[in-house]
Amino acid sequence: MQVIDNVQELINLSRSWDSKKKVGFVPTMGALHQGHFSLVKKARECCDIVVTSIFVNPTQFGPNEDLDSYPKTFENDYNNLKSLGVDYVYYPSVEQMYPKGYKTYVNVEDITKTLCGASRPGHFRGVCTVVLKLVNLVNPTLMFMGEKDFQQIVVLETMLRDLNFDTKIVRCPIVRDFDGLALSSRNKYLSTKEREIAPKFHLAMLNLQKEVLDGNNNRDILYSNINKNLSKEGFTVDYVKIVDDTTLEEVSQVVKGNRLMCAIYLGKTRLIDNLEI
Ligand code: AMP
Repeated sequence: MQVIDNVQELINLSRSWDSKKKVGFVPTMGALHQGHFSLVKKARECCDIVVTSIFVNPTQFGPNEDLDSYPKTFENDYNNLKSLGVDYVYYPSVEQMYPKGYKTYVNVEDITKTLCGASRPGHFRGVCTVVLKLVNLVNPTLMFMGEKDFQQIVVLETMLRDLNFDTKIVRCPIVRDFDGLALSSRNKYLSTKEREIAPKFHLAMLNLQKEVLDGNNNRDILYSNINKNLSKEGFTVDYVKIVDDTTLEEVSQVVKGNRLMCAIYLGKTRLIDNLEI
């Protein structure tokens, strides 16, 4: 496995690959866990060449967010990716990605203004910019992304479609811990006490799903129940929304196939999760 930290080197390399080879790409911010590994394994199964990137992208963090404290575990990440059979890891510095004088950003309209986009202004502008740059550098056939970040997938699919990129996103299911908590690099921020409470987030979401399957399709009653449930367990709700899974628009009557999208705070840690109803 080769580590590349230089933009030009990556461009030269990716342009040298035989165009018949399937290139799989897994962009990450590092502090890798089984959620990331599931994407890498899938890429290894489907593709001839597998590239992973590790880059904590400053442009997708707001001024009061956790850019400085974001966990960094490069040595572990390196060993894990090597044992999973990854061919190349792109591990650039901030200066490689955003050199002095950098001025260009990518903006997807509308669907970036709701949900996480409403709570984190500028977040998707940063995500779209970095992913477009990475896709341009790696030129992958397939890009593997987790449904943990469901809105991110919808936004990036829209961007790739609108800008006529050939790269297709392979959606991979959410990997959860034994107690249902969605794996996330940010789970490292949770205290022992908070980690015990955290799975109740997903349980509350499953409860809403059950209510719908039992015949309750009244969105506002469902919202009221889950909000009460989450507050009682000690979470501060950022948003709870039931949306259409392609437009991300909030639905008025809930039907099977809609997506429940949630973000909460547990202490200072912000956690997101979603599920198909
Ligand atoms: P991140 O390092 O958080 O930027 O995530 C990199 C990729 O891993 C994204 O496509 C995420 O959706 C995906 N990912 C993160 N956590 C999980 C998880 N628990 N299950 C599946 N995919 C995940």
